[in-house]
Amino acid sequence: MKYDAVIIGSGLGGLLSAAMLSKEGMQVLVLEKNAVIGGCLQTFTRKGHLFDTGVHYIGSMGKGEILNMLFRYFGLAQKLPLKRLDEDCFDKIIYKGESYAYAQGYDNFIDKLSQKFPQSRTEIRTYVNNIKKISASVDFDHMQIFSQQTLMSNPYFRYPASDFIDDSTKDPVLRNILAGLNCLYAGVPGVTPAYIHALINAFFIQSAWRIVNGGSSLARLLSDMITENGGEIRKNAEVVALNMGSGKLDHAVLQGGEKVYADRFISNVHPSLTVDLVKGEGLRKPYKNRIKNLDNTIGTFILYLVLREDAFPYLNYNVNYYDRDDVWGTRSYDPERWPDFFLLYTPVTSNQPEFARSLIAITYMKYEEVRKWEHTTIEKRGDDYRSFKEDRAQRLLALMEKVYPGIRNAVESHYSSTPLTLRDYTHTPRGSVYGILQDSRNFMESILSARTKIPNLFLTGQNVNVHGMLGVTLSSLTTCSEILGQEYVLKKLQHAV
Ligand SMILES: Cc1cc2nc3c(=O)[nH]c(=O)nc-3n(C[C@H](O)[C@H](O)[C@H](O)COP(=O)(O)OP(=O)(O)OC[C@H]3O[C@@H](n4cnc5c(N)ncnc54)[C@H](O)[C@@H]3O)c2cc1C
Repeated sequence: MKYDAVIIGSGLGGLLSAAMLSKEGMQVLVLEKNAVIGGCLQTFTRKGHLFDTGVHYIGSMGKGEILNMLFRYFGLAQKLPLKRLDEDCFDKIIYKGESYAYAQGYDNFIDKLSQKFPQSRTEIRTYVNNIKKISASVDFDHMQIFSQQTLMSNPYFRYPASDFIDDSTKDPVLRNILAGLNCLYAGVPGVTPAYIHALINAFFIQSAWRIVNGGSSLARLLSDMITENGGEIRKNAEVVALNMGSGKLDHAVLQGGEKVYADRFISNVHPSLTVDLVKGEGLRKPYKNRIKNLDNTIGTFILYLVLREDAFPYLNYNVNYYDRDDVWGTRSYDPERWPDFFLLYTPVTSNQPEFARSLIAITYMKYEEVRKWEHTTIEKRGDDYRSFKEDRAQRLLALMEKVYPGIRNAVESHYSSTPLTLRDYTHTPRGSVYGILQDSRNFMESILSARTKIPNLFLTGQNVNVHGMLGVTLSSLTTCSEILGQEYVLKKLQHAV
């Protein structure tokens, strides 16, 4: 059997691409190496309680907002179970002991922040107008974001977010608060483009939602859609090689040797691993090297807490705690002072009671800290790795005590993950949290096209375009536009809203 399209990887980008192509009548097959689909949409349970591995909230799902419009095409907008976060505070930034609320709705955001910075109301309004303008480039009428060229010509891709914020206000505290959702893009000062900062902040300020029962609710809906459209998804099917025919890819080889044939292949796997999968003369060395030399975002240490009954409230917002003066410096933390930051939240379940049973706290972790175990695999890393994780878990809990004194007493059991966990589950190099680091100084290199040097091999996912729910949705549309035609995809989207 020869498929119209084989999609390698069932992350958000792979599933959305498969959903779109199958909806348009193509015979698709998704190959996923893991036993569970979804990549960073996956959830897991401990003692029956829910934990996310990646996506913990999404934005712009209100009527007429961008993600809602895109999800309408997929039939997801109506089906995805969502809980809106607190409209007056969906993210709390705690900086130098003071709390600042990110409120939903542009005017509400300006009002709430201006209460803390009354002298800076005009600056805050101008900042908001600017991020609105930048994010408006994601627009159905112009399809701006759907091409590598338009992204490259966007001046905000060449302008570092840290400069953009510094130019927005002279107030040093306000600068840090405007950059306070840094963890959502693992921002690096002087490097991360203003475009990424603006797109993500505007995305959540418009409206912010948790997916009820976590990201796997979305993965399930997409998987149902693909199979209803006649597509197939195979789990435990790792692609180990992509072999060339005459001038293009001929087939994928699975672990175990099985060959899968298709007219085209879409890789949802990190590009630096994708280029290694291609065997023979398919890709020239300079192209491979360019991709393999791109820098990636930092990794994370994540603590998963099962909480005792009635011991800790469900929080309808996220908490971003900084124990440092500069919210941008989190990537270059001092290992002696680790951790100096965390993002904390409680996942939401259907019929969520007043009290939470699970809590997730995320902080950064450099790959160097776990390098000595890099040749080990999941569950087989040894006792010293377990002790390392336990030490780091206790250190993170100690920092959490500063915000929630006595939180340890609410913990029934705890689990943790390091950059090695993400590296081995999703195959992201060095356990990078969001894949390729977009670089305003080197934007021509870091913006990848969905097209590759092989005519029937395409890329999709967070490394094409931007990471996160919006970025990856746009990325999958970019990929499908290369196959179905941009005008065609645009018409379909416009028709759906
Ligand atoms: C801790 C964390 C928190 C996050 N929080 C948010 C958030 O709150 N909101 C938000 O919008 N975004 C968030 N993100 C980002 C978002 O989750 C990702 O950008 C997005 O889900 C990535 O999707 P992807 O399509 O690129 O693929 P991935 O999720 O990376 O999936 C790739 C898939 O390919 C599979 N694969 C790899 N190699 C092979 C192979 N050889 N053969 C077969 N299959 C293979 C993997 O197993 C995996 O399933 C978060 C990410 C992380 C890690």
